[in-house]
Amino acid sequence: MDGGWLAVVGLGPGDAAMQTPQATTALAAATDLVGYMTYLDRVPHRPGQTRHASDNRVELDRARHALDLAAAGARVAVVSSGDPGVFAMASAVFEAIEHGPAGWRALDVQVVPGLSAMFAAAARLGAPLGADFCAISLSDNLKPWPLVLHRLTAAAGAGFVVALYNAASRARPWQLGAALDALRPVLPPGTPVVFATAVSRAEEALLVTTLADADPARADMRTLVLVGTAATRRIERPDGRPWLYAPRSHPAAS
Ligand code: SAH
Repeated sequence: MDGGWLAVVGLGPGDAAMQTPQATTALAAATDLVGYMTYLDRVPHRPGQTRHASDNRVELDRARHALDLAAAGARVAVVSSGDPGVFAMASAVFEAIEHGPAGWRALDVQVVPGLSAMFAAAARLGAPLGADFCAISLSDNLKPWPLVLHRLTAAAGAGFVVALYNAASRARPWQLGAALDALRPVLPPGTPVVFATAVSRAEEALLVTTLADADPARADMRTLVLVGTAATRRIERPDGRPWLYAPRSHPAAS
């Protein structure tokens, strides 16, 4: 029974160079890899390692399975894209521990952080998250849609830049359009909106537009949408790709 552990590992946004050495070490030391198959595909194969690929919607089952394996002595890496604590597997693991057998609380469990999509996207754009910001998942699979809208309009109304995760998917085609419509009475029409798709991967695409012109059809399940504020600055550049940044001080501070 000795020697088992569980690491919830963040793979970063896609580019292997954006994965931390700590994550690489944990993946190499694991006897078992658990995760959504698309993410497992990003981990190089190693002889002797067992892969437990699953569908994206069974996070709690996957977490329990991983804990069972670790309790039986396996060295288990549960993989997530980006950071495992941001709309990803780490919450499912702790939910499983809280409601699971008492023995799971004594397990060696570690969260290995990763570079979340919002930071990878922000780095491409300049410094749009340089002042107060928040992250909201637009998925209404696990929370009611009116709550999503309430948080979004409250955050935007309070001057937070908002990073929207899970902006769109085939199963959730209308939510982003409804979210942008809810923001239009709250923010000026010229507020910068960014569609950052597949950042750091071969298909990377970045579109910087405004709230007035934002077309929700530009987002798919690989897209992070960033909604700026009235204070977000835009610096035009000769190649047509502007920098966005958040000024360090609020106008009221001087
Ligand atoms: N744990 C992940 C987020 C998982 S939720 C993280 O920290 O990044 C999945 C959502 O993350 C996607 O729908 C998309 O909104 C965003 N996302 C993940 N990888 C991305 C990437 N490379 N580029 C842009 N958005 C990404």
